[in-house]
Amino acid sequence: MQRRQTLQLAAAIGTTLAMSPIQSSVADNGQAAGTPSSARPLTDLGQLPGLRPSPRMPVLFVGHGSPMNVIEDTRWRRGWQAMGRQFGNHADAQYPKPQLILAISAHWLTRGWAVTGMAQPATIHDFGGFPQALFDMRYPAPGWPQVAEGIGAAMRNPPVAVEDFEWGLDHGTWSVLQPMFPAADIPVIQLSLDYSRPPHEHLALGRQLRALREQGVLIVGSGNTVHNLRAVARQVPDNQAHSWAVEFDDFAARHISSGNHAELANFLTLGNLAKMAHPTHDHFLPLLHTAGAAHEGEAPTYFNEGFQLASIGMRSVLWG
Ligand code: ZN
Repeated sequence: MQRRQTLQLAAAIGTTLAMSPIQSSVADNGQAAGTPSSARPLTDLGQLPGLRPSPRMPVLFVGHGSPMNVIEDTRWRRGWQAMGRQFGNHADAQYPKPQLILAISAHWLTRGWAVTGMAQPATIHDFGGFPQALFDMRYPAPGWPQVAEGIGAAMRNPPVAVEDFEWGLDHGTWSVLQPMFPAADIPVIQLSLDYSRPPHEHLALGRQLRALREQGVLIVGSGNTVHNLRAVARQVPDNQAHSWAVEFDDFAARHISSGNHAELANFLTLGNLAKMAHPTHDHFLPLLHTAGAAHEGEAPTYFNEGFQLASIGMRSVLWG
């Protein structure tokens, strides 16, 4: 994609672009095209300064849907609350409290990849036309500059810039983390999406993130399996949707369940079906990062299956 087209696209969907340089092509195994195998490793996220070794953390993909879900008592919100209760030190928790959340939101598109590096990331209200109560929301989780710097230093292909002034936590991140972890006491770093790069590179980047799971990091992708705001239909119950939405969500579930993530990343080959499900595919890319961070053969479980407004797939996935 040409730079100007990318800029126009990002402007059309209300996002900003960081100005870090675009990286070279990356093959599906994460190796740079044309890079000799003797080159230094792509990444070394093993034991970053500040993080402690931990039992392997799960990986989460969350369908976020409307920002209203964070202030309304919907079944989606109750699903996020229930998921959050699986983490912590209490008796019925399945997993330890995360040391850090690495959030990959559909709403931060950049040229080149970046992580937030500020100590106190701002709550970004990146939407319009919603009630004041939504603009009043704050999610005051701290950042973790030392770990952000460690990730930036370790990631070489693609390079990951550390962004410490422009972004913060957008609603793709805080609208799901607030119900899950209302105390906002777990540090959060956001990782952006380089929308100019093809889907399989997003999957490959996700694979590089796996090592963080042994360091107490909960990787949370926030997007939607289906996302077409032009086709929303109010009054449609959440167990119904457009036929193409159901078909595309079935495609996603089939390849998530089988672990065929390469096929998941090939979704654009579905042509018109993919275009209907994702007129822009920013909401699908976080699913590729999280699928990549799952290990081979790691079984997924689903929660919050169904649709919001007939054209937003809310299916959410836990690996591990
Ligand atoms: Zn969204």
